Amino acid sequence: MCSIIGYYGNGLAAPILVRGLKRMEYRGYDSVGVATKDKAILLKKGVGKVADVNNLLHLDSLPGSVGIGHTRWATHGSVTDVNAHPHPSSSGQIAIVHNGIIDNYEELKSELQQKGYQFKSQTDSEAIANLLQFNYDQTQDIKKSMIQTVSRLKGHYAFVAMFQDGTLSAARYHEPLIVGVGKRSYFLSSDVLGFIEKTDVAIYLDNGEFVMLNKGGLEIYDFEGRPVKHQTTKVSKEFADAYKGDYAHFTLKEISEQPSTIIRAGESSGDAINSVTDFIKHAKSVYITGSGTSYNAALVAKYLWQKYAKVKVEPIISSELSFSPETVEPNSILIAISQSGESADVLEAVNIARKSNAKIFSIVNILTSSLAQESSLVIGMNCGPEIGVAATKSFTSQLGIIYKITEKLCDGCIKVDSAKISEAVSEVLLDHSKIKHIAKELRDITDIYILGRAVHYPIAAESALKLKELSYIHAEGIPGGELKHGPLALMDSNVYVIIINPGDHTYSDTLTSAREIKARGAKIIGISNKPSDVYDHWIEIPTVDEVFYPLIEIIPIQLLSYYSAIEKNTDPDYPRNLAKSVTVK
Ligand code: GLU
Repeated sequence: MCSIIGYYGNGLAAPILVRGLKRMEYRGYDSVGVATKDKAILLKKGVGKVADVNNLLHLDSLPGSVGIGHTRWATHGSVTDVNAHPHPSSSGQIAIVHNGIIDNYEELKSELQQKGYQFKSQTDSEAIANLLQFNYDQTQDIKKSMIQTVSRLKGHYAFVAMFQDGTLSAARYHEPLIVGVGKRSYFLSSDVLGFIEKTDVAIYLDNGEFVMLNKGGLEIYDFEGRPVKHQTTKVSKEFADAYKGDYAHFTLKEISEQPSTIIRAGESSGDAINSVTDFIKHAKSVYITGSGTSYNAALVAKYLWQKYAKVKVEPIISSELSFSPETVEPNSILIAISQSGESADVLEAVNIARKSNAKIFSIVNILTSSLAQESSLVIGMNCGPEIGVAATKSFTSQLGIIYKITEKLCDGCIKVDSAKISEAVSEVLLDHSKIKHIAKELRDITDIYILGRAVHYPIAAESALKLKELSYIHAEGIPGGELKHGPLALMDSNVYVIIINPGDHTYSDTLTSAREIKARGAKIIGISNKPSDVYDHWIEIPTVDEVFYPLIEIIPIQLLSYYSAIEKNTDPDYPRNLAKSVTVK
């Protein structure tokens, strides 16, 4: 849950590594560091964002044409300079960067300490550096020391190690690792964004493989040391779009892209939507799983498929499945949703479902991801790279695909007119002034509730998630009818409530809820195509076919969350303590 990068070539490594790290910072960002090989291994690291630490320590001024770098999202040991990566071995002859968790690090650490190897940090990762050093001291052979090291490591990891002679070696086990192949240069990276400015030729390593890079070029092996051959892949040019352009933040850019990403949702996945629909129609049981935003999309699927196609689907929070694996009936279908396709919880859910012989389908943005590889059918979100940690365009792309499946499941009882939906989304995005004004008012509040009925409840839940992530305001989504069963006790003049209230079959009941809240003095923000005197602020959305409101009503809340972050002077792209692709359990 961080990014690792390695560079081996003719150019100066440090500036290339720092640029690559900046582009991958979305993955995790509490500290950063770079090590290069000059006459000896040189290393600089510190707590903070890439740009800040670089300004302070000049990471990019390290000499040498071989190097490794890291942005950390701490799992073991607090956020300190010492715990930042790279970690040198106790002799300083090897340095490593690591993404993931080493489950048996305590055992390895005490074993190595008894042998005289010293540890400076509290991280699990340092065990890799010293274990490699120990194995190298025994064998004087980098390949052998890699094989022996990976045979002892338990957990999930990708790491890059740099040796005193300038060799880079990297291993992949349940964390992403991609090789970028440039002209007379190689990259090892968690994400293609780490090297896309330099090359669009990539090799996707499989689990249980390691690479060695030295004067002899690139070699790939399995964990037993047998050579492995891989095809190179041309990375989609789309990845090169990962720039903010004229936008102040990626999050705003990504919110603004939705009129086009909604249209593209699921396109270019060939016949996958038809095939998945056919399987769903004939399946005994269907489950749909995800984490965070993707789970909220799964809840929307439940409402839509049930209401329009009479198909029952059970949404499962991915991280919960390992505690009740019996949920999944034998020979069923599991649809897994994940933007990155690397979310450890979702991959674990897939693993569990597979044990019950479930067929695995996925809705995923990164088609080369582990989840895509694990699935028999893959529907691509097709929304381009999403850098902002809070999911925005990927959510509406997930919904776009769920709508397209609904249309097929119910034999055309709804008509997904993507162009029309896109127009309505553009309309909401036209003028931000009212939302900016409301964000100012929300600046100092501590609690906000979001209320919606039926299919608008998952949107209320997603709205609460956005507000938490971006504005750090405590937010809760409430199914409208539940108000009187508890939350009403919290309503007073300090509270704001967002009412998701488009003019559909939920309208009048939800309006009544708004009046009950107003009577207790709370302020009401209404999101609706119809005005009402009950709203202190009315955010108007265009009138569309009733079934499509979820896709429209989430847009102003994404904007509100974004502008609330701006009001609070926090960075909307990188909320504190969070990372984009949660690759640890
Ligand atoms: N477990 C390691 C640490 O806490 C690596 C975490 C990461 O993936 O950033 O330092």
